[in-house]
Amino acid sequence: MTVRTGAQYVEHLQKHPREVWISGERVEDVTRHRAFIRPIEQLAQLYDMQHDPQFAPVLTAEGPNGPVGRAFVAPRSAADLIARREAFRVWSEATLGLMGRSPDFLNTTLMAFAESADVFGRLGQRYADNVVRYYDYVRDNDLFLTHALITPQTDRSKTASDQEDPFLHMGVVEETTEGLVVRGARMLATLAPMADELVIYSLPGLRPGDEKHAAAFAIPIDTPGLRLICREPFDDGSRSTFDHPLSSHFEEADALVVFDDVLVPWDRVFLHGSVELANAMYADTNLRQHTAHQTGVRGLVKLQLVTGVAMQLAQSVKIDGFLHVQQRLGECIAVVEQARALIVASEAEFETSESGAVRPRFGSLQTLRVLLAQQYPKLVEVLQTLGAGGLLMMPSAADFGGPIGADVAKYYRGADGLPAVDRVRLYKLAWDLCGDAFGQRAVQYERYYAGDPLRVLAGNYLGYDKTDCFRLVDRALGLAGEPGGSGDPAQA
Ligand SMILES: Cc1cc2nc3c(=O)[nH]c(=O)nc-3n(C[C@H](O)[C@H](O)[C@H](O)COP(=O)(O)OP(=O)(O)OC[C@H]3O[C@@H](n4cnc5c(N)ncnc54)[C@H](O)[C@@H]3O)c2cc1C
Repeated sequence: MTVRTGAQYVEHLQKHPREVWISGERVEDVTRHRAFIRPIEQLAQLYDMQHDPQFAPVLTAEGPNGPVGRAFVAPRSAADLIARREAFRVWSEATLGLMGRSPDFLNTTLMAFAESADVFGRLGQRYADNVVRYYDYVRDNDLFLTHALITPQTDRSKTASDQEDPFLHMGVVEETTEGLVVRGARMLATLAPMADELVIYSLPGLRPGDEKHAAAFAIPIDTPGLRLICREPFDDGSRSTFDHPLSSHFEEADALVVFDDVLVPWDRVFLHGSVELANAMYADTNLRQHTAHQTGVRGLVKLQLVTGVAMQLAQSVKIDGFLHVQQRLGECIAVVEQARALIVASEAEFETSESGAVRPRFGSLQTLRVLLAQQYPKLVEVLQTLGAGGLLMMPSAADFGGPIGADVAKYYRGADGLPAVDRVRLYKLAWDLCGDAFGQRAVQYERYYAGDPLRVLAGNYLGYDKTDCFRLVDRALGLAGEPGGSGDPAQA
């Protein structure tokens, strides 16, 4: 098979019923549940774009068995990186940067795994083979993956193995001839109810003793014993698209994943039992650079959206003539441009491995990761500040054209004859981004999607190549000379 259409994606979901719980209810068919219908539609549109002559040349590339999504293709040059960036951009713009876990995110991860299969091979060649075979399978069937890297928060002062219940955090209970039996929970699997497969690995941080919890593998979402418990949805499928233009379209379900003695067949196991490798694989597979390329491009689109809304909102009621408003908008633009520059820099200063694999420069993308986590919430705050009380007092779609229609048309219009309907539509969009639960999740997403920002920054310091900085310090220190000298060059 080659790239899928939206209809094929939906058909696959229907053929693979999974155990999903939402608001106390077991979902029979996610494609028919109100909470999932609209996001599934958005995802289906992404797949359809791969067949649209306008987008296909950007979104796809020739694979061994036909066209494949470009995120699956390992870059070999700066031009490949740019082509991949364009594919990321096109899908990100289609979802306005608001679907952080669109399929290209984990397609990129899998490509990075396959490129560095020898890392998994450190525990035995069969694990490297499993990774490559799985990558081929997902690529050629254009499957959609979700992932769950984090343990439930129960008690963060203890390691996974020290928790009261040794299998509260997902761990391997037993090895059988067929595979690993795993039990316990993981979070936070975004879009899991609508995905085809679940991939499990860990962020670094496992400790000696956590061997049972050191596992990397992938299984279909409909694997027996796998249960998805969704958070309360922000949009149950009934919200007006006028009142909630974004949350009614781009709500990504997040789920806790429970493994009720799930069998993971051996050919789907990539790593197990080695805390050392589980901690090292994240960096050693170069996964961080590749995924940060996708998330950076998506983040840029999201920054542009918020900045655009803030600028139009300011223009709509003519507050954009005030100096401090221009200052805040100028800061938003600087953040957008910084993000763009970091993406371009990461591609221009790409890194090449001994095998000829190319990846964007880590330092630039790591900086972008930090920038997004810190600056996105600030941009949202600009929107809140400039929108002020107007964000809260908007009428609803139902008020237009009703008995109070004339009041609405008169009192909600904007400057320069901007009709009320256009101003209200704009303010509703702003509220979805900066006030509604959907917007708050989008903020929380940017803060945490790449891991705890505090530990990301600490890792930035610990892992940074300090040579250039220290060389300059040494040169500056050299100017001081030795104590006791007069500082007078004539006496030196
Ligand atoms: C909207 C959203 C979507 C997400 N989607 C996904 C997804 O699809 N897949 C996935 O795997 N993950 C996903 N993530 C999860 C993300 O990886 C985690 O939220 C992130 O790694 C932080 O972990 P945590 O939420 O468990 O917070 P914690 O690690 O529990 O941190 C909570 C607080 O305690 C502090 N803290 C806790 N432990 C320590 C420690 N050891 N040292 C120092 N400080 C500590 C932190 O600084 C932080 O302030 C998503 C997160 C969000 C918010």
